[in-house]
Amino acid sequence: MTTSLVYTGDVDWHTIHNEVFLYEGNCWTTCNGGFCCSNNHPDFKFQLMPTEGTTILYMEDEYEYLCQDGQVGETSLDWPEPQTMSLDYGGIRPLMIYHTPCHLLGLCEGKIDKPLLCKLYPFLPIFFADGRLETLAPASIFELTFEILASQTPCTVMSKAVAYLERWRYHPDQLAPLRHPYIMLYLQAVKHFAEIYREKLLTNKKLAGKTGKDFWSAWELQYLGGRLVDHGEWKTRVAESCRELTDRYGEFLAPKESIPQ
Ligand code: SF4
Ligand code: SF4
Repeated sequence: MTTSLVYTGDVDWHTIHNEVFLYEGNCWTTCNGGFCCSNNHPDFKFQLMPTEGTTILYMEDEYEYLCQDGQVGETSLDWPEPQTMSLDYGGIRPLMIYHTPCHLLGLCEGKIDKPLLCKLYPFLPIFFADGRLETLAPASIFELTFEILASQTPCTVMSKAVAYLERWRYHPDQLAPLRHPYIMLYLQAVKHFAEIYREKLLTNKKLAGKTGKDFWSAWELQYLGGRLVDHGEWKTRVAESCRELTDRYGEFLAPKESIPQ
């Protein structure tokens, strides 16, 4: 495989949002009616994180594309204005995501365009800088936590990780529109987050020895309190990935004001 795997023009959001990357027909019938959309789990009794719904995330440019050329939820009592989170790792512009609760419980067709995250669930492909598929990361914090703790996830598709990894390695064309440095950097950031989170989770004294409901109640406090991520280390690793991609492909993260409208 060569660098020709990677596309460096504008991100083709139109193709991405018309593409079916992962289809598992009726898999929602196997997991309590769609765990990924509902966060419905007998041990989840959160105080702040959504249940009977979940949180959806969009990359900054993805959200802006969908606002202009796609469908995002219209702001209402049920659909609050998305908030932003940004990771300023010292690059030309921070990595920013938009996030909002989604209570559509799988019935989003015709109402909003699913974010890429939902189109890939439960796997996020992570690419080496040259475009080869490195690995798959779990697509939600819950799947990641189940995996680290070797706990049973309600998601039956998770057991197909090896099959998807092989399929996407043999057929790189199936993920072609995602091989753009802008998206690859976000995906690298997911990988770095997952690695740091794994270390923090396994060494967190407040969670040690806890299981079931006790674990998840304590976990919510630790997670939302920022105790399961080392942001300094995360920024360092993302900066390194950004450097690697920039060295190879040139500047791909133009400052917002210099992007032609
Ligand atoms: S992707 Fe997993 S959690 Fe989501 S509906 Fe399918 S089996 Fe359920
Ligand atoms: S956008 Fe659709 S697929 Fe994604 S969480 Fe909401 S209902 Fe589920």
